[in-house]
Amino acid sequence: MIDFHCHLDLYPDPGSVLTRLARERVYVLAVTTTPMAWNGTRQLVGDTPRVRVALGLHPQVVAERYAEIDLLCSLIPETRYVGEIGLDGSEDYTASFGVQQQVLAKALTACATNGGRIISLHSRRAAREVLDAIETHPGCGTPVLHWFSGSITELHRAIELGCWFSVGPTMLQSERGSRLAAAMPRERLLTETDGPFTKTRSGPLMPWDVNEAERELAKLWGCSQKTVDGTLTENLRRLVSVGEATSV
Ligand code: MN
Repeated sequence: MIDFHCHLDLYPDPGSVLTRLARERVYVLAVTTTPMAWNGTRQLVGDTPRVRVALGLHPQVVAERYAEIDLLCSLIPETRYVGEIGLDGSEDYTASFGVQQQVLAKALTACATNGGRIISLHSRRAAREVLDAIETHPGCGTPVLHWFSGSITELHRAIELGCWFSVGPTMLQSERGSRLAAAMPRERLLTETDGPFTKTRSGPLMPWDVNEAERELAKLWGCSQKTVDGTLTENLRRLVSVGEATSV
C-alpha cells in the first residue's frame, strides 16, 4: 500500500502512526506545509523503512509564510521530494493568489536548477494556473498532482505535460472524482489520504486507509485489489527510479 500524500507530522501521535506503518509495510510520502517543519519531520521519521519526507510550503499558508520560500529553496539540495506546494484558488485564498504564483514559480525554478524533483502539487480551483506553471518550468522534475479536481480537458493537458496523479478514498467516493480517476493513466497513478486533513465520521483518515482507495480503483479497473496494489507498487518503483538519474 502507498500513501503518497499525508501530513504525518500533524497527527496527534505520529510516533504510533509510524509504528503501525512499519508493521503494515506502507510506503508513505510525508509532505510538510512549511519548510520550518522539514528538519523536525525528518527527525520524527528517522530511519523508518518506506517512509520519505517532502519539503513543502502549502499554498494555504503562503499569505503568512511567503518569506519562507527562501528557506525552501535553500533546502532543496537536501531532498528528492518537494511538497506540498501549489496553488489554491478557492475563495478564502484569492487575496494571496498572486503571491502564491510567485512562490510556486520560485520553488519550481529551484527544482529545475537542482536537476528536477518529485513534486506533490495542490491545485484546488487552480488547475489551469498550476499546469501553466509546470509548462513554464520544464526540467522541474516529475509533478504528482494530488487530489486533482480540474476538468477533463485540464486532465488531458496534465497528462500531456507528463504529470502523475495521487488519488484518495474521498475523491474516489465522489462521482466526479471517480470519473477523473478512471481517465488517468494507470501507469502514472498512486494512492494517498491527505490525512489528517481528510476526515470521516470515525476520525481522520490514516495512511493505511488507502486500502479503501485501492478497493475503489479495483472497481473502476474491473480487476482485483491485489492487481491494483501490484500496479501501484510498480508505478512507485518506476517514479523513484526516474528521479534517481537526476537527483540526490
Ligand atoms: Mn495536503
